[in-house]
Order: sequence, then structure tokens, then C-alpha cells
Amino acid sequence: MKYVEEYRDAELGKKLLERIRHRSRKPARLMEFCGGHTVAIFKHGLRQLLPPNIQMLSGPGCPVCVTAAADLDKAMALGKLPGVIITSFGDMIRVPGSRSSLQKAKAEGADVRIVYSAQDAIGIARDNPAKTVVFIGIGFETTAPTIAASVLQSEKEQIKNYCVLSLHKVCPPIMKAILDLGEVRLDGIVCPGHVSAVIGSRPYQFLADDYHMACAVAGFEFVDILLAIDLLVEQIESGRPEVAVPYRRGVKEGGNPAALKLMDTVFEVGEADWRGIGIVPDSGLKLRQRYESFDAEKRFDIKVSPAQEPKGCICGAVLRGVNTPNDCKLFRRTCTPENPVGPCMVSSEGACATYYEYGSEK
Ligand code: SF4
Repeated sequence: MKYVEEYRDAELGKKLLERIRHRSRKPARLMEFCGGHTVAIFKHGLRQLLPPNIQMLSGPGCPVCVTAAADLDKAMALGKLPGVIITSFGDMIRVPGSRSSLQKAKAEGADVRIVYSAQDAIGIARDNPAKTVVFIGIGFETTAPTIAASVLQSEKEQIKNYCVLSLHKVCPPIMKAILDLGEVRLDGIVCPGHVSAVIGSRPYQFLADDYHMACAVAGFEFVDILLAIDLLVEQIESGRPEVAVPYRRGVKEGGNPAALKLMDTVFEVGEADWRGIGIVPDSGLKLRQRYESFDAEKRFDIKVSPAQEPKGCICGAVLRGVNTPNDCKLFRRTCTPENPVGPCMVSSEGACATYYEYGSEK
């Protein structure tokens, strides 16, 4: 199978579900790491269609949701500085920090602009030479290469009033951190498709080798996800974990060398602050010293008070797979997509927004 339509084939989906039902005997708790997978699983009702011994848990794979309140506070502090324009992807501006959001900061006079790419932010920098444009860089290995390219482009074109607040995160270390926390028993992980298209499947090998964890890299159509679950079940039933890649049309073992090179040229691995999880070593991407003039944290002396989480919000536990949105007392009551209390209700890939949209008790 090579093309998208084949991965939307209902008959094939039924056959895969039948095969999963037939061979799945042991209880299996599978975490879909990626928010895009969570949305696809809910949209197609896969949780209800799987046999009762298979439980799907949502993980910390939504870049908006995992951005720490402290990092958002930094973005808002930058927005208050004279002559600074904050540029950000749309979802981010509604996410609450400790005391405010970029949207509220904008209403109070900060120059906050939504952009669709770092290229747009560079354009704003070109048009406003007397101001400094800060791009709020969020996302996993999927978006980091394009942000790296924006830094290289700015250097080449001598655009000196552009910089990045790098809040980028990388996936394998947070998977390790979740497993090391030991709060949730997992038998398998549905590894993220887009991230894996960049990093390849090799970086997950430690999960099978060191954690005896079944792994399968999935694409985003329902057949993709069922193929991955089927392979996870096979590994769990046989007791032989490995890193399976049913998403061969998108992912190679070694990833995308050009994207990896871009990322490695501009960024180096450092610690990152994850909402609800805290500081995780080697799980973030910081600008290399060579590019420090494009680093908003180096360019500006940002001081923020200790961060606070929104009262009553259990996003942290949801992101760690410990709770579901149904466990939150605010879910559907005071917290809705129109009035989100926490980040998981803001992002279209957030677990709370997905539960709200599609609903599930399983
Ligand atoms: S429902 Fe709202 S308050 Fe509760 S965990 Fe989700 S985002 Fe946070």
C-alpha cells in the first residue's frame, strides 16, 4: 500500500480489528504519544472498537500542551518590553501561563501577532527594522528544522532584529522520563509519525531493549493506527518487543538526513521544562552559541516570578497518562474550548479538547 486512500479503507480496517480481537489475549495498555494520533483515534471511534483488554492512553505529544507555564511567562515578559513584537502560532496565544496569556497581553497593549510559519515572522522583522521580532519556537522534532532554517536565513540575509525563544522539545527523552516515573503501567507505545519522519525509528530502540516496551511507528489514517496496534499486540503476545514501522511510506530507520542536519547545525540538546512533568534533561533544543544573537533568552534579560498552574487543572496528570480529562472536576463545566482553563483544552490536539469534541468513557 502506497497511497493515502488505501489507509482509509473501511474493509481493511474491519479485517485488522478482527485480527487484533483474534490474537489479543493479554491486557495491554498502549500509549499514543502524539496528539494527532489521539484525535484520529477518537474521530474514528477506535477506542470503542478495540477489544476490552486493550486500553489506549493519551500521552504528552501535544507541543502546545507541554509548554510550561514558566516558559509562557517568559514570552509575556518579552512582550512587555518596549520595541518587541511577539510572533506565535495561533493556538499558543490562548494558552494560560501563570497569570495571563499572550492573548490577554495583546489586549493589554503588547504587540502579539499570529503567524503561520517562522518565514512570516522574518517578514515582520523585515518590515519593522526598528523593532525586534521574537518568534515563540514550540514543537517537537517536526517543527524544529524549519525554525533552524529561519535562523540560517536570517543570518544569511543579515536580518538582525529577528530572534527565537526556543521552547522546542524532543520526544525520546520524555518517553524515557514517563517510563522512569513509573506512574502508569504501559505495555506498548504508538510512536509519533511526523516526528519519526524526521528522526527515524532508530532512536526508539532503547524502549524495546532497556524497557521491554513494544513500539510501533504509526501514520495518521485509521488503518495506519490499526496496523500499529496489531503489531503492538503481536509483540506483547509473543513477549518480543521491537520497534516496528508500519508507517514505511513516511519513516525511514535513519530519518530525514537534511532535516536532522539543519536541526543539528542550529540547535543543541539541553534540558527543557515540560508542563506537568518538570525539567527533563536532554529533552529540549537550545540555540548553539554560534547563533546566540538569535536567542531571545540571551538577547534579553528575562525575569519572571515562580510559575503557578491554573487552579483545579490537572493537565499535568493528563499529559503523563495518569488521569483522563474525565477525571478533572472542571472538564465541561468551567473548562471548555471557548473558556479553556488549561492548555489541554486550548490546543486542537490536546487531550481535553479531543475528549470534549468526541467524548469517550473507555
Ligand atoms: S479539563 Fe481543563 S482544567 Fe481540566 S485538565 Fe483539562 S484543560 Fe485542565
